[in-house]
Amino acid sequence: SNQNLFAALRAAFPADLEQIAVETMSASGEPLLYSWRDLDRASARIANLLAALELPEGSRIAVQVEKSVEAMLLYLATLRAGHVFLPLNTAYQSAEIEYFVGNAEPAVVVCTPGNFGWVSKIAFTAGTQHVFTLGDDRTGSLLERAAHFGDDHVPVARGADDLAAILYTSGTTGRSKGAMLTHGNLLSNAVMLKDYWGWVPGDVLIHALPIFHVHGLFVAIHAALLNGSKMIWLAKFDPRAAIAAMARATVFMGVPTLYVRMLAEQGLTPEAARHMRLFISGSAPLLIETFQEWQRRTGHTILERYGMSETIMLTSNPYQADARHGDQDERRGATVGFPLPGVGLRVVDDANQDLPVGEIGNIQVRGPNVFQGYWRMPEKTAEEFTADGWFKTGDVGRVDERGYVSIVGRSKDLIISGGYNVYPAEIEGYINEMPGVAESALVGVPHPDFGEVGVAVVIAKPGAQLDGEAIITALKGQLANFKIPKRCFVATELPRNTMGKVQKNLLREQHKGLFP
Ligand code: ATP
Ligand code: MG
Repeated sequence: SNQNLFAALRAAFPADLEQIAVETMSASGEPLLYSWRDLDRASARIANLLAALELPEGSRIAVQVEKSVEAMLLYLATLRAGHVFLPLNTAYQSAEIEYFVGNAEPAVVVCTPGNFGWVSKIAFTAGTQHVFTLGDDRTGSLLERAAHFGDDHVPVARGADDLAAILYTSGTTGRSKGAMLTHGNLLSNAVMLKDYWGWVPGDVLIHALPIFHVHGLFVAIHAALLNGSKMIWLAKFDPRAAIAAMARATVFMGVPTLYVRMLAEQGLTPEAARHMRLFISGSAPLLIETFQEWQRRTGHTILERYGMSETIMLTSNPYQADARHGDQDERRGATVGFPLPGVGLRVVDDANQDLPVGEIGNIQVRGPNVFQGYWRMPEKTAEEFTADGWFKTGDVGRVDERGYVSIVGRSKDLIISGGYNVYPAEIEGYINEMPGVAESALVGVPHPDFGEVGVAVVIAKPGAQLDGEAIITALKGQLANFKIPKRCFVATELPRNTMGKVQKNLLREQHKGLFP
């Protein structure tokens, strides 16, 4: 039978196609409603347009547009037509687009109307045949052309191992890599998450994330569609709009910064969140302070989970009793929960040998969710898999005796100071607990005696005054000497990418010359 992901999503549409599937607002603030029939027909028209282009098998459809329901429809149409969806961060400028388009050689590029001039020049130079535009207000040549096609389309037959999407990683640790994901990767993960997170009829999702990463594009959209659930679609995250939507919704997915921004709003109360069933966080570590404050302010316990572009979702705190872990149902802050059903996870040393429970090491995974490899990087792909087929996540962590996984950092962010391993998350945890500290980041910089030493960058809470020297002094009573940062700077904010991840490479670069 057809393993095309779209076929499975379409089969889950409610019987009554006139029900509302997506509720959003136009750029000018008018309410806009899409029925399930609208999603079906509009994606069929775009799929028919793509079919008419007679593209070769496996063609990439590269898309850099503002978030809109039509951008999601373009994703669904690409699946439906059997092509490979390749979303690009809207922040990327010409040098980046030149790299991605040159690397991916897409058959079709879709960009915003305002960028058509320079994007089309790059695309045509790279050999792309077709460039369309799509605005965030239903304008542009893509929809104009698609309007000439019929609204019936049978999903193209695809196998579980056929490519569905290439997602470029966030580029937190270096140049982004294109992770090749199959229909089978995406569908198996989505079906499992729908079950693990207890989706029920009547659930309504607040969709507040960008749709060029796993979190907003796959985890959020697939779950809602597979459950036949309505989405309240926020084209841009706005904390007040998100809080207002809670009265009509049940599920929210966000990166930690979204939670922090909502916590800054007076309107966030138990009453405002009363209708909600589940708050999920991921993509970056959720500070324990945010986790606890959310509990105090709303009465809800955030469920934190962990995943990556290469694997989609890997671990999750339990939504309800998890029989595999002694019916444990506690969502524990500062952990990312249990390996999800079907996901194998192990913690190993640098020789790929299993470490005892509780010890910190490299996290490796396997399962039906693990990608096929990095696009056009066979050597990098080979390096990131062990001989016996485990994928090296690049994250460092531990699993406790109850089975909860914690991430302590990325192996690239590990600091080796005088031969000792320093795990940034541990030191950051101590700094964050000090009075007046909002958050912190510890990075390693070169040092003539120790090889590397830690340098801390600390952000004060509003109104608080911090002194870097005093922070170092306070740490000295608590931690071994090799873990103490040699310098501590107070800054106004940490550099973050669009997914709210701290860009430690920028901090390292900034401070690399401190100890000549
Ligand atoms: P690149 O691979 O290009 O350096 P990236 O790893 O940030 O960028 P993504 O695939 O978008 O790109 O992000 C996956 C990473 O995000 C994970 O490897 C992990 O480090 C981090 N991450 C995701 N969820 C969590 C979480 N709940 N807690 C801590 N870290 C998380
Ligand atoms: Mg990564």
